Amino acid sequence: MPEETLFTKIINGDIPAEKLYEDDICICIRDISPQAPTHVLLIPRKPIPRLADASEEDQAILGHLMVKAGEIARQLGVDEAFRLVVNNGAGAGQTVFHLHLHILGNKKFSEQGLGM
Ligand code: 5GP
Repeated sequence: MPEETLFTKIINGDIPAEKLYEDDICICIRDISPQAPTHVLLIPRKPIPRLADASEEDQAILGHLMVKAGEIARQLGVDEAFRLVVNNGAGAGQTVFHLHLHILGNKKFSEQGLGM
């Protein structure tokens, strides 16, 4: 059996987290170390390690995450300006190898390009 990821432990309730949303495909929790006034993580229950490891069979999960990201942004009141970030690989800053989308809002973003 592969080692459970940190996020699987949170999904299973073995590690506490502030859950904002959950359904049978994903959960949404507040990030423990927020990089913006609003910073939540949208995590599929399936422990896909990196976006680059997703395959055709994960298409419905990935689509679901995108739809939920928009809904959650609306619920959090950041739908006019939020950033959705997926870090893929250690070189891009990924530290938890269980796919997750960062939803960042209530922050002054650079209005040009990807300046963070
Ligand atoms: P990554 O760097 O892999 O893209 O993002 C991992 C995120 O998980 C980081 O923003 C980090 O703050 C968050 N994180 C790490 N450990 C925990 C934890 O135990 N609980 C919560 N809620 N977030 C965590």
